[in-house]
Amino acid sequence: MKRIFNFSAGPAMLPESVLHQAADEMLDYKGSGMSVMEMSHRSKTYQGIIDEAEADLRKLLNIPANYKVLFLQGGGTTQFAMVPMNLMKNRVADYIITGHWAKKAYDEAKIFGKPNIIASSEDKLFSYIPDLKNLKYTPEADYVYMCENNTIFGTKYKSYPDTKGKILVNDASSCFLSEPLDVTKFGLIFAGAQKNVGPAGVTIVIIREDLLAIPPLPGTPTLLQYKIHADNGSMYNTPPAYGIYICGLVFKYLLGIGGLEAVKANNEKKAAILYNYIDSSKIFKGTVEKASRSLMNVCFRTGEPALDEAFLEGAKKAGFSNLPGHRSVGGMRASIYNAMPLAGVQALVDYMQKFEAEHVK
Ligand SMILES: *Cc1c(COP(=O)(O)O)cnc(C)c1O
Repeated sequence: MKRIFNFSAGPAMLPESVLHQAADEMLDYKGSGMSVMEMSHRSKTYQGIIDEAEADLRKLLNIPANYKVLFLQGGGTTQFAMVPMNLMKNRVADYIITGHWAKKAYDEAKIFGKPNIIASSEDKLFSYIPDLKNLKYTPEADYVYMCENNTIFGTKYKSYPDTKGKILVNDASSCFLSEPLDVTKFGLIFAGAQKNVGPAGVTIVIIREDLLAIPPLPGTPTLLQYKIHADNGSMYNTPPAYGIYICGLVFKYLLGIGGLEAVKANNEKKAAILYNYIDSSKIFKGTVEKASRSLMNVCFRTGEPALDEAFLEGAKKAGFSNLPGHRSVGGMRASIYNAMPLAGVQALVDYMQKFEAEHVK
């Protein structure tokens, strides 16, 4: 067996110890005689699994009692619709556009009402987070929408907008559990699991309880109502049971290594190795303003498409997978989520240095 350094933006690497544990428990989960995959979600054993996953997530993020934790399906993309269907009672909302995913969410909201763009970084190819100080909120806006870490462009918010009491909605898909997060700043946080916490198929929603009293828009299907999931402990129908189990193992693992402060310190260390080298390099350039840099998705390029191509070809041969940037932007992107070991980042930098030495005259 050979594991390689996988720089995929998602689905992405998971902690090796979690994969081992899942393998060990695959055929017989704790003496139940069956795999978690085969287990009734109404069984006592499974109830224990989902309860423990929720309790551990609450511990990790310090989630206050007046917030519900939901384990849903449909990915981040379904949230682009669920958010307006459940929160857009005046059919008006304010969106901050910092990349591909925020734009998708904005476009989806148009199906249901009138989303307004109150800030955007599209003028410079989403290479920065807009100034959040003087945002002009629409008085009737039901919520303000942001995407905390921009997976494709490699930017991240370093502070949050003060929405003056308006509900703040955060797509935290690609930075979820990479560092501590002050849940109380938000009305709703969502994250697809496959970037940092588990297999694709689980979407985590953290929602403030009072938001569940907002009537969904007429015609909202039962399964797309947050309140239905909250009232039924994420078990109105069959949840993504096995995926939730894996997320639970990851939560336990993160608590075991010291919680999110320790995770953050590790992520900062990894990102610094890569950014410091890029900043000192004669051929590689970071594509993002320094103050907006993501710890999870590091985007860079040489400026010469042919050289980028040569770099990527060599990288593949050297055993690094998934380094090409998103098809909409090109260049390179190294996604270094929680589970990417420091050795993987160091190995990448070693390869970059070697490439530079061979290509700079
Ligand atoms: C990947 C991603 C999404 C889309 O997630 P799906 O699960 O594929 O629907 C949404 N937002 C962000 C920030 C992402 O990184």
